[in-house]
Formats: sequence, C-alpha cells, structure tokens
Amino acid sequence: MSRQLIAAGNWKMNKNYEEGIALAQAISNAVQEPEALVILTPPFTSLSSVFEVIRDKKSIKLAAQNCHVEKKGAFTGEVSIDMLISVGVEYILVGHSERRAYNQESNELLARKVDLILSKGLTPIFCCGEALDIREAGTHIDFVANQLQESLFHLSEEAFRRLVIAYEPIWAIGTGVTASPEQAQEMHQNIRRLIAKQYSVDTAEGTTILYGGSVKPANARDLFSKPDVDGGLVGGASLKPEDFVEIIRSF
Ligand code: PEP
Repeated sequence: MSRQLIAAGNWKMNKNYEEGIALAQAISNAVQEPEALVILTPPFTSLSSVFEVIRDKKSIKLAAQNCHVEKKGAFTGEVSIDMLISVGVEYILVGHSERRAYNQESNELLARKVDLILSKGLTPIFCCGEALDIREAGTHIDFVANQLQESLFHLSEEAFRRLVIAYEPIWAIGTGVTASPEQAQEMHQNIRRLIAKQYSVDTAEGTTILYGGSVKPANARDLFSKPDVDGGLVGGASLKPEDFVEIIRSF
C-alpha cells in the first residue's frame, strides 16, 4: 500500500510576522510538484499570513504546534481548535516532546487532544519518542509502545487511520545528533508491528510514520530511503528555506 509521504517543518517559537511570510514564500516558490506533501507549522501569530501564502498550493498544508484540549472558555492565553480551523489549519502537532517536558502534557491529556482533533476532522501528528537514558537502558521500544497504548490505542480503527505518527527520539531533537537510519527503521518497523497487532496489517501498512530529530539535507535521503520511514518532522533545518527545500527533494 502506498503511504502519504510528508516533509513537515516545525518552526517552534521562531520567525516574526514578516519573517514567517518570507520563509513561507521562499518555500512555496521553490516547491512545484513535490514527491511529498509539505506541511508548515508556524507559531500561532503567523498561521493566517502563512495560509495566505500557500492557500493555492495543493501540495503545501498548514499545521499548528498545539491546540487546547477544551473547545472554548476561560483559558487565558490558549488557542482553541475552532480558532485554528478558521485560519486554515488542517494538521496539529500533538505531544511534541517540548510540550510534554515544559507543559507537563501527559499521555492521558494527549489522548483527549487526539480525540478532539479527529472529531473536528483535522489530522493529529502524534509525536512520540524516548529520552537518552531510556535508550541507554534499552527500554526505548517498550517506552514508545506505552505512549501509543495510552494516547492512541483507544481509537477505533477508522479513527486511527486518519492520524500521522512522528517518532522523535528526544536525544536527537535540536542536538545535531541524528538517529541512524537503522535506529529509525527499527523503531518505525516496531511501531508498525504494534499497529498491526492492535488493528490490522492493512492499517499498519497505511499509517504514515515520520522521523524527527536533527534531520538535515545531509542525512534526509538516507533516512527517507528506509522502508518504514515516510518522511520527516524537521525543526531547525526547516527555518532555512534552502535546507528545507533540499530535504523536500530528498524523497
Ligand atoms: C522537532 O522540533 O520536532 C525537531 C525534530 O527539531 P530538530 O529538527 O531541530 O531536531
């Protein structure tokens, strides 16, 4: 089964209004008919301006870095899913390791966010991955399995088929240390095995699983050539248009 290939850029808390427009324009101009779907994930303040840049491009979609778990109300400083929908967002990151660490987002909270996003017809990009001490203890496979179990495996098979997974080992995020293509493949294959066990081989084969963690032009081709790696979630290198465009061309 052919899976959707994706190159997603996570801008994190970078780029002001003008810089965001310039970055989106540079990527949009360079990308004509990409092999993969391109997803841009700017900060909230740039969502609507980036959407205006990409709105006529079928191959480029807009994502948000987070949404609140409640639909509306007295949650000062938060952003609701309906607000995101109103500015053109189709994908939402859920459970990025920085939000798990700095905002105490638990597997249980993330399960509720996944439910909300799917109920509104958007696509969650569910991030999972282990810290260095867990990798060194050799328990990384079980750790990620537990993240999937507690945040995703309550979903019906029909609902599960509508999400994207991003495996992002924490020790590789923003550190310049990339998981080897073999390490990424091992985890992705195992995630696919777990999905097959929970749902079906068909669903496992149809699920897009991205790798994230210091993806750069120099390593993207090797990572994306692995059979279970369907693209990347890219942080630092997505802020430089020439690097991100080269990554998009690595499929
Ligand atoms: C990320 O933010 O999801 C990420 C993978 O960052 P970086 O590419 O900078 O490691």
